[in-house]
Amino acid sequence: IEQTAYQNDKLAMLGRISASIAHEIRNPLTAIRGFIQLLRPHLLQLGKDEYAKIILSEIDRANDIIYEFLNSSKPSAPQKTVLPVSSLLKEVALLTESEALMKDCEIILVDNPDPLRVSIDVKQIKQVILNIIKNAMDAIQNVDVVRPGTIQIAVAKEGRYADISIADNGQGMDRHTLSRLFDPFFTTKESGTGLGLSVSYRIIKNHGGFIHVNSSQGEGTEFRISLPLVQ
Ligand code: ADP
Repeated sequence: IEQTAYQNDKLAMLGRISASIAHEIRNPLTAIRGFIQLLRPHLLQLGKDEYAKIILSEIDRANDIIYEFLNSSKPSAPQKTVLPVSSLLKEVALLTESEALMKDCEIILVDNPDPLRVSIDVKQIKQVILNIIKNAMDAIQNVDVVRPGTIQIAVAKEGRYADISIADNGQGMDRHTLSRLFDPFFTTKESGTGLGLSVSYRIIKNHGGFIHVNSSQGEGTEFRISLPLVQ
């Protein structure tokens, strides 16, 4: 799936606008959040705690959107470090372990003894992989049939690239979703932002890499991130 130039322009423009307004929106949101929490005991007494919960979770969602906006508007020149892909993947697997456990997913990290080194902005690439793993967990939780949820992470050398594969056995995607998943704001989730993958796409492009998706409805999804190898 290729993102069109139009989508990239749209994303760049969104980035510029967001940088200038995000801070201004965040401050009142923080104030609202604080006061709702002060009011919460009173709402509870009135039997209206549900309202407080909705307000808080919606404020948090708005904050998530702003956070991702700010991330996507950061300067595009990455701060690069050279490191083996396997050490990055180990760290990410460790970071997601407890959440995976809570969500009944197993993270399987396939070891690759080859020292595949890449030059990356560690923070940015970590963010991309975490995004993809989070989506995989969501997709696994949306499956009705009882089966163990697995997320397999592996890396292999493909020509001059390190190919990182992240495969889940979650719900998979239909054609419509597959054609739009990199669009800013496209989401099929009730409380999704639809920004995770559009930002990820841009980060990978800025690293001179590619991102590909294979998905089969009811069976699962594989994301493949190719990053240029350091010789
Ligand atoms: P969000 O997670 O907030 O919806 P994303 O940009 O990360 O935003 O994802 C966009 C959409 O792509 C999701 O709403 C979902 O429909 C689809 N998607 C992404 N990853 C997967 C996956 N592993 N399995 C099934 N659908 C996925």
